Amino acid sequence: MCGIIGYVGEKHPKEILINGLKRLEYRGYDSSGIALKNRSDIQIIKSKGKIKDLEEKVNILEIIESNIGIAHTRWATHGRANEVNAHPHKVGMVTLVHNGIIENASELKEKLSSVNFISETDTEVACALINKYYKGDALSAINKAISEIKGSYAFGILFDDNEKLYAVRKDSPLIVGIGENENFIASDIAAIIEYTNKYILLEEGEIAEITKDKVIVTKEGKVIEKQIIVTDISQDDSDKCGYNHYMEKEIMEEPAVLMKTLAPYLDDIDIIPDLSKYEEIHFVACGSAMYAGMIGKTLFEEYANLKCYVECASEYRYKKVIYDRKTLVILISQSGETADTIAAMRKAKENSIDTLAIVNVKTSTIARECDFKLFIEAGPEIAVATTKAYLLQVAILSLLAYRSSGGKDKSFIDDAKRLPGLLTDILNKKEVLKNIANEIANSKDAFFIGRGIDYAICLEGSLKLKEVAYTHSEAYQAGELKHGTISLIEKDVPVFAVISDENIKDKTISNIIEVKSRGAKIITVSNDEAILEGEFKIVVPKVSKLLQPILIVPTLQYIGYYVALLRGCDIDKPRNLAKSVTVE
Ligand code: GLU
Repeated sequence: MCGIIGYVGEKHPKEILINGLKRLEYRGYDSSGIALKNRSDIQIIKSKGKIKDLEEKVNILEIIESNIGIAHTRWATHGRANEVNAHPHKVGMVTLVHNGIIENASELKEKLSSVNFISETDTEVACALINKYYKGDALSAINKAISEIKGSYAFGILFDDNEKLYAVRKDSPLIVGIGENENFIASDIAAIIEYTNKYILLEEGEIAEITKDKVIVTKEGKVIEKQIIVTDISQDDSDKCGYNHYMEKEIMEEPAVLMKTLAPYLDDIDIIPDLSKYEEIHFVACGSAMYAGMIGKTLFEEYANLKCYVECASEYRYKKVIYDRKTLVILISQSGETADTIAAMRKAKENSIDTLAIVNVKTSTIARECDFKLFIEAGPEIAVATTKAYLLQVAILSLLAYRSSGGKDKSFIDDAKRLPGLLTDILNKKEVLKNIANEIANSKDAFFIGRGIDYAICLEGSLKLKEVAYTHSEAYQAGELKHGTISLIEKDVPVFAVISDENIKDKTISNIIEVKSRGAKIITVSNDEAILEGEFKIVVPKVSKLLQPILIVPTLQYIGYYVALLRGCDIDKPRNLAKSVTVE
């Protein structure tokens, strides 16, 4: 689920591997490690905590000569986050790093009773299994082992008596980077972008056998011809470009990526699919992407008269879903590798249901397997908490709702063209947002209330505050708060009230008055200057309802960012979180 990088070439791998791990840091992790190889000499160095702790260790130790190595950032699934459990693991002749989860690890462990396991991880079991089958033929050992392993994995593997680097994956991303007299493996192109922009995408079950000047990919013993992909991601995309945090940089990039994503469709709206031929739409996703789906549902119902459901992918994949009418399942995922969303997509496909992907990473599993796809042009998103990718998912859903409504809202196209400019103005006036952040930075709790589409906006605003600033926060349908949760409102508890929908404005205002009279500190977030009920006000320009969330959500993202800054949180890598959740 976290990061892998591997190197084979003419240079010493130490710095390349450590730099690569730093570029993968954004994914969130709890420990890291590196293995360097010089013939049968394998030096493994691991550390709990940050990469800089690993780096310090590496810098004080005597390092062996080497030109091949693997490295890993771990996000613990099996066993505590400590040095012993950190990767790489070594059993017998095999040294290995692993992203993912081996589901039948305990079963396999029983069969490997002669092995003296030293960690609590599922990874060490996989390592022992490959070692059990290794009799000098690496490919055969890997093939035998993966035929017994259940679950998800991206493995980078070294054998003591062999000068090659091996890679294999299932349900967890892994690429082979192609350089000059050097080759790489990486769980994400960001790890190796300093060295190459060319890579090969490994498909499930394919094994790459890599030396400094050759990559041979086989599947079940047969050689597979692979296409070399050239990425347009540049090193700049993954630098902070003067900002203190990726999260801030990514919020500030929103106007530009919005323009890039919307422009082709605004020139020719007919290239966006018309979904009105479907009778039912299921939006399936996780976290913020699911909240983007909530906005989609509200807009599709209102504008396109489509029956819609939003489900979190981890539920959808296991529940009984009744597919009794012409249904489209829309899968939303920044990385396109979210494990639960992949499983939900496959469930829909097994039931012969059409699938549409809204993703950022064009080569991802979801992008490749869905029947239809629409790409957002977010570029790399490094901060763990999504900002620009979420916003673009909402933008694509707005386009789909508009198109499927038969172009009902006449101001849509003009407003969409004005959107990047309007958003730039909002983001340039951050003083107001900073004042509000200052005001709430010490609050333990916060609430967000809204109705309809405003409730969907609240969910995302509230999640940002939880994720990055660790403020306990809840989003409520404004009318529902009084059915229990209002008992938590006391003096000075911040309540954000989002009011952009003219039709239900007065109803939400009544709910504001209810919480205000119980002492809450009200922050109104609205497109209507005339709403006076808040002690603090965020006002954004009024645009088509289909596009209004795109001007409101960034203000809440920024408040989340700024509160986190005031509270001294680890903004880009919040505790316990990982980018692109590739395990269940
Ligand atoms: N399941 C493995 C472990 O807990 C790998 C976790 C990861 O993907 O980082 O060590």
